[in-house]
Amino acid sequence: MVKIKMKNSIAEIDGDEMTRVLWALVKEKLILPFVELNTEYYDLGLSNRDTTDDKVTIQAAEAIKRLGVGVKCATITATLSRQKEYSLKKILPSPNATIRSILDGTVFRKPIQISCISPTVKTWKKPIVIGRHAYGDVYKNAEFSIPGPGKVELVYSSGDKEKRILVADMKGPGIVQGMHNTDDSIRSFARSCFLYGLNESIPVWFAAKDTISSTYDGRFRDIFEEVYQTEFKEKFEKSGLSYYYTLIDDAVARIVRHEGGILWACKNYDGDVMSDMIASAAGSLAMMTSVLVSPSGPVEYEAAHGTVQQHYYRWQKGEKTSTNPTALIFAWTGALSKRAELDKQPELASFAANLEAAVIKTIEEGDQTGDLALLSNPKPAKVLNAWEFVDAVLGRLGSA
Ligand code: NAP
Ligand code: MG
Repeated sequence: MVKIKMKNSIAEIDGDEMTRVLWALVKEKLILPFVELNTEYYDLGLSNRDTTDDKVTIQAAEAIKRLGVGVKCATITATLSRQKEYSLKKILPSPNATIRSILDGTVFRKPIQISCISPTVKTWKKPIVIGRHAYGDVYKNAEFSIPGPGKVELVYSSGDKEKRILVADMKGPGIVQGMHNTDDSIRSFARSCFLYGLNESIPVWFAAKDTISSTYDGRFRDIFEEVYQTEFKEKFEKSGLSYYYTLIDDAVARIVRHEGGILWACKNYDGDVMSDMIASAAGSLAMMTSVLVSPSGPVEYEAAHGTVQQHYYRWQKGEKTSTNPTALIFAWTGALSKRAELDKQPELASFAANLEAAVIKTIEEGDQTGDLALLSNPKPAKVLNAWEFVDAVLGRLGSA
C-alpha cells in the first residue's frame, strides 16, 4: 500500500503515563502504516520538562505557532507529590497553561457522540461545543470579608486621575469582591470562537447577563458584536452560518431543548460550570475532545482527559488496562485533517475521516473498553483492553 506523504509538518507533543503508552500504540498501529508522518517531536514528559527547565514546553508552543497545527498527549501538572515521585528540581507550571498563554488561545471541548450511548438530554442529536473564556472575572478576583459597618468603594487611579464608585454602604458584617477583564482578552476570545465556528461549520452562540451588568457584561456583548461585524460576518454568511447573542438564562433554557451542533461561547464561570454539565451528560471523559484555538489561526488538538494515572500504575505491574484511546485518536485525526485542509491534501483528509468512522463503527458494533461498556445500550458481550480495542479499530479501517 502506498503511504500518504504529508506536505507539511505537525508539532507532535508527547506526554505522560498511560496516555504516553497509548500515544505510541495509536501511532504505531493506526497512523504510521498509512501515513508517512511528518512531525516535529517535542517530549513534554515530566522528566524532560524538568531536564530542560521547561524550555521544551515553550519550544513546543512556538512550533504550533510556526507550523499552524499541533497534537498533544496529556501531561502531568507537577505537584509536591509528583516532585517526589519524579525527583524534580522544582515544580514547573502546567504545560497547558504555558501553551495557552503563548498562543493566547481558547479551549473548545466537544463530545464524540455514539449511537449506543445516548446523551442524558434526549433532544441532543449533535454535539454541543463549549468555548470557555479562560481569563479574569471571578478567577482573578480580589475579595475580603468585612467585620462591620462601613463604606465599600471601587477606586481606579492612574497618575493624578482617580475614579471612585460606591459599592455598598454596609450596615453590618459581610463580604466584598472586585473583578476585572480586559478588552484585549475578550477580543482574542471572540476571535477564537468565530474562527472555531468557521473551521467546524457550526453557528456560534454567546450569552451573558447584560440586562443586570450593563457595563461589564455589556462590554463582552459589544466586543463580540464588533469582532463579528468587522471580521467575520461576511465569511459566516457565505458559509450559511450565524451568530446569536442572548441572555445567559435564555441560552440555558434553549440548550436543553436544542438539537446541538452549535458552539456555545461562555464567560469564564459559565464555561466552568456548563462544560462539566455537557461532559457528564454526554458520557465518558474518554469521549471528550479538546482543541486550543489561537486568535491568529494556529490550533492544537488533544484529549480532554488527563494521563489516567491509576491505569498507568496497573499497566506498570503488567496489566493490559481497559483504557479508552478514542479521544487520543481523535486528537490525531483532528490535527491530520487540519493539516490536510491547510495543505489542500484531500487524501489525508479522507484518511482522517475513515479513521474516525472506524472508531465509531468499532464502538457501535460492541467492541468497547470498560468505561463505555458501563454506559452502552445494548451492553457488549465482552470488554476489550486498549490493545484489543486498537486492533478492532484497525480491522475496520478498510471497511469504515
Ligand atoms: P484523568 O487522567 O482524566 O483520569 C481520571 C479518571 O477518569 C481515571 O482514573 C479513569 O477512571 C477515567 N478516565 C480518564 N480518561 C480515561 C480513558 N481514556 N479511558 C478510561 N478511563 C478514563 O484525571 P486525573 O487522574 O485526575 O489526572 C491524572 C494526571 O493527568 C494528573 O497529573 C493531571 O495533572 C493530569 N491532567 C492532564 C491534563 C492534560 O494534559 N490535558 C488534563 C487533566 C489532567 P477509572 O479510574 O474509574 O477507570
Ligand atoms: Mg468545572
